[in-house]
Amino acid sequence: MRHIAIIGSGPAGYYTAEAAQKAFAGDVRIEVFDSLPVPYGLIRSGVAPDHQSIKAVSNRYEKVALSDNVGFVGNVCVGRDVSIAELRELYDAVVLATGAPRDRDLGIPGETLSNVFGSAAFVGWYNGHPEFAALDPDLSGRTAVVIGMGNVALDVARILAKTRAEFAGSDIVAHALDALEASRIERILILGRRGPHQIMMTPKELGELGHLERAAPHVAPADLPAPEEDAILEPGLRKSVSHLRAFAATPAHIRAEKPIDLEFVFMSSPKALVGNGKVEAIEVEKTRLVRGQAEGTGETETIPADLVISCIGYRTSPIPGVPFDERAGRFANDEGRILPGLYCVGWARRGPSGTIGTNRPDGYSVVELIAEDAESGALGAARKHGRAGFDALAEERGLEVVTFRDWKKIEEAETRAARDGAPREKFVDVAAMIRARD
Ligand code: NAP
Repeated sequence: MRHIAIIGSGPAGYYTAEAAQKAFAGDVRIEVFDSLPVPYGLIRSGVAPDHQSIKAVSNRYEKVALSDNVGFVGNVCVGRDVSIAELRELYDAVVLATGAPRDRDLGIPGETLSNVFGSAAFVGWYNGHPEFAALDPDLSGRTAVVIGMGNVALDVARILAKTRAEFAGSDIVAHALDALEASRIERILILGRRGPHQIMMTPKELGELGHLERAAPHVAPADLPAPEEDAILEPGLRKSVSHLRAFAATPAHIRAEKPIDLEFVFMSSPKALVGNGKVEAIEVEKTRLVRGQAEGTGETETIPADLVISCIGYRTSPIPGVPFDERAGRFANDEGRILPGLYCVGWARRGPSGTIGTNRPDGYSVVELIAEDAESGALGAARKHGRAGFDALAEERGLEVVTFRDWKKIEEAETRAARDGAPREKFVDVAAMIRARD
């Protein structure tokens, strides 16, 4: 019997568990660890609350989680409550599926001013992640600046723009719903350091901006390349750019029917955040494209900003004892192998890009590496203690382990607490989650 510990219960973690079940058939026991008492990582805390159809993928993970040879070890933080070395003693293979939960820094002056957030924090706030639930962004100003032109920037801009009614059926947490309803923001700028042909936004998600109740997207027609230049774009990007063209073609009097402006600002690289304690403006340098990259022109502009959210990508959190690639912001690995017996998968392996589905082949390929290492003898004889050994350690340390059965009780309590039409009202602090299982 092989024992596999998967650290992280998001998409990368559960696809790996699924692949390991298939590859090792009845000859494996898998534990999925999470530092929170609740599973599903990015699905729960990252995917936008108004994108419930994407969140439904957790039903597939639940099927895996409920299998006899798969366990959930919630509320245990690997690297703090238990070390990697200890887990490696207990398990034949340890797979880090910890994602990329830290914000990349902009690296510009003023980043520590108040009301400046990274998207991990801001998204965590409206999704009720215990670490960020108390963020309390000030939404009383007029202008919000969202930095970055990827799908996370779109999520953040859309959430800022929506009315309470537009959150019907979502699982946005109550504190965020109330704060957003009281928001005074009238102008949301989406700031990109490159141009319309370099956006990272996918068409379906970008198209949603055209159907908001109280916000109208705006692109300055002069910012768009000549239409014939779209021909060279790959089809998905061409479709996204066609949305930008539609936004640019919307007459001002139609846009004026909606009170919130959602403006795309291209070719503008953030240089500094300015303010006295709290952010008041962002200084940008206009750019030009040189071999596809943004190069500063020296021309600067100061844009008022009462709230700034940078959506420029994420980093994996290092774990003591695991080699880390500082530059790339993820574990140092060779196609998922850190060393025989220690692997990484998903964003922790390749950085924060791709869709949820990209993690599936990732999970399968890391399991192939484990099988290879088991076959070659690199994992040693199958004599590890797995869960039984971990449980003994957890008891000795007084860890409060949350099982999948406990999670189902927490989930029931969240479902019971849901407002009308919503799937759940999430607990936003760990103590409340743990109380709910008792
Ligand atoms: P992303 O797609 O990589 O976009 C990051 C954006 O930040 C880019 O526009 C990038 O511009 C910009 N940026 C990076 N560094 C910058 C800097 N120093 N100054 C200014 N701008 C900077 O990342 P993401 O939006 O965080 O998304 C992560 C992944 O999750 C993506 O694969 C995304 O598709 C996926 N996702 C999907 C959904 C969905 O399908 N609904 C929702 C959310 C996220 P440059 O291109 O110039 O570097």
